[in-house]
Amino acid sequence: MKRRILLAAVAAVLVSVGCVSAAPKLKTLIIDGRNNHDWETTTPQLRLLLEETGRFAVDVATAPPKGEPLDGFKPDFSKYDVLVMNYAEFKLPVARWPRATETAFLDFVRNGGGVVIFHAADNAFPNWPEYNEIIGVGGWGGRTEKDGPMIRWRDGKMVLVDEPGKAGQHGPKAPFQIVTTNPDHPITKGLPQKWMHTADELYSTLRGPAKNVTLLAAAYADPAKPKGTGEYEPILFTIAYGKGRVFHTVLGHSATQGMDCVGFACTLQRGTEWAATGKVTLPVPADFPTADKTSSRN
Ligand code: ZN
Repeated sequence: MKRRILLAAVAAVLVSVGCVSAAPKLKTLIIDGRNNHDWETTTPQLRLLLEETGRFAVDVATAPPKGEPLDGFKPDFSKYDVLVMNYAEFKLPVARWPRATETAFLDFVRNGGGVVIFHAADNAFPNWPEYNEIIGVGGWGGRTEKDGPMIRWRDGKMVLVDEPGKAGQHGPKAPFQIVTTNPDHPITKGLPQKWMHTADELYSTLRGPAKNVTLLAAAYADPAKPKGTGEYEPILFTIAYGKGRVFHTVLGHSATQGMDCVGFACTLQRGTEWAATGKVTLPVPADFPTADKTSSRN
């Protein structure tokens, strides 16, 4: 961590004296305010992880709390390169955004904007069909087989599985191994084939339209453990929606659990850059986790 701060300081000096040409920062908006997770600590952590790369300039739009009217919630999405969803109202009845805000959000994505779906953001808006296309698959909020198939990784291929049941579950937080299923994508290029994630929730049985999905990484939900499905569940994936690029990470329950993993930080940073630009310039750090060893920033 100290090394990171030192490197960032050196980079800042080099930029300030003109030794390094600073690319324009990617304008990033984190959306929060309604979440059954502690968004008041996860949003600053998201901001820190993005801004420490020097690649992003981050603003935050906070919706009024559940129960209060959303009429005035009208962020200007068009000013940004990428939106990071840390928003997860899913307990029924779920309030939708004002129509103008939803239309602006969909126009932003369709016209080529980037979106990052972070952890419980795939719980949000079970009753908004276009949002469910943007997330690919999601859980909770009354979602079942009526909402679409599950994504699984079987025999080296992504498959869509139609079976009855509820969408969304996880066992107690524990470390688990992640498999890079697509090593050729800009986000995952250079990652180890297998890597250990720090203690976190392993989401499983997510369901949705699952259209235009590219699976990047999956994890085996061991049936010997609580809620284990015996399947490789989707962990990192992208969705094409109109001209827009969506990066979906199911990882990162809290600032200290899941978000502390060097692998989470790296894939969030690279995934956000890719969603914003379609390219990745941010490197894979030397302390990235390995097949049998976690790597925590704490
Ligand atoms: Zn969680």
